[in-house]
Amino acid sequence: MIVVFRPGAEESRIQDVIERLNEYGFDVHRSSGVNQTVVGAIGVKPEFDPRHIRVMEGVAEVYRVTEQYKFASRSWKKENTVIDVGGVRIGNEELVVMAGPCSVEDERQIEDTAAHVSACGAAFLRGGAFKPRTSPYSFQGLGEEGLKLLRAAADRHGLKTVTEVMEVGQVELVARYADVLQIGARNMQNFPLLKEVGKLRKPVFLKRGPSATTDEWLMSAEYVLSEGNPHVMLCERGIRTFETYTRNTLDLSAVPVIKKRSHLPIIVDPSHGTGIRGKVIPMARAAVAAGADGIMVEVHPNPDMAKSDGPQSLYFEQFVDLMAQIRLIAQAIGRVIRDAPALA
Ligand code: PEP
Ligand code: MN
Repeated sequence: MIVVFRPGAEESRIQDVIERLNEYGFDVHRSSGVNQTVVGAIGVKPEFDPRHIRVMEGVAEVYRVTEQYKFASRSWKKENTVIDVGGVRIGNEELVVMAGPCSVEDERQIEDTAAHVSACGAAFLRGGAFKPRTSPYSFQGLGEEGLKLLRAAADRHGLKTVTEVMEVGQVELVARYADVLQIGARNMQNFPLLKEVGKLRKPVFLKRGPSATTDEWLMSAEYVLSEGNPHVMLCERGIRTFETYTRNTLDLSAVPVIKKRSHLPIIVDPSHGTGIRGKVIPMARAAVAAGADGIMVEVHPNPDMAKSDGPQSLYFEQFVDLMAQIRLIAQAIGRVIRDAPALA
């Protein structure tokens, strides 16, 4: 149930309502916006009559939430959530570009990539150190060494980092090095992992499961939010359909769907979404046009020799083209991409 207060409602009125809700046995969460305060009452109380609250002073509206998720919903929070990662703000007018290799492979590779993507205007360096590979015989990532290389390369080029954490036992380690913790598609419903990252205050990048509905995806976000971590962004990375030409089917309609149902930022990953280098730029353009808050793209200095996801990784020159093209589209819809020092 959600209680919306009148604009400017007195604090003592709000406290009276919170106390009453506590007496009824609800778990109460408060969100105070610029103009209005909203209180969420969590708990199933079939015998409870919301009219008891509706008649209280200062209350504008009371309604039951039909969605199973609450903190992730627009009804709970009307304004877009903006996540501040050391000065890079995700979810407002800046369109944030996160780029880098699928896996961190060695110092030269990550350094060259960081230099290039930062010169083109990316804000984040991505790169996996713990890799969820379909085959146990494939490259599994460099582990902590990879985290260190990613951090150092990003710092040298003024970039933030995003990297995957695969299991509960790794959370503390990955959080020590990374600015944003990625929960991979395969782990979208790893509930203990979601709860663990929910205990931190570090931003979480939650990829959509390959066969997850938007409802299930938002419920996973709810796991993180309900533990107290409000810094969650979602990432559409393609879903499994009957189409086999592309690796996944990039569901771009998820962007306006999520924007309507949730206040959380949404990023699109056209690399995993298509699996084909030549399809990444067109889908990145479409993602920006659809209103995504950012894109995540795989870029590699030598994609033909990449240890993972080479066929979908962009060559450096392609990344230059991608940035030039999405800059124009971003501008047309009132968004900005940070300056590209090398291309200015
Ligand atoms: C990745 O970002 O490298 C990755 C493994 O992505 P996903 O979880 O979307 O497959
Ligand atoms: Mn990859």
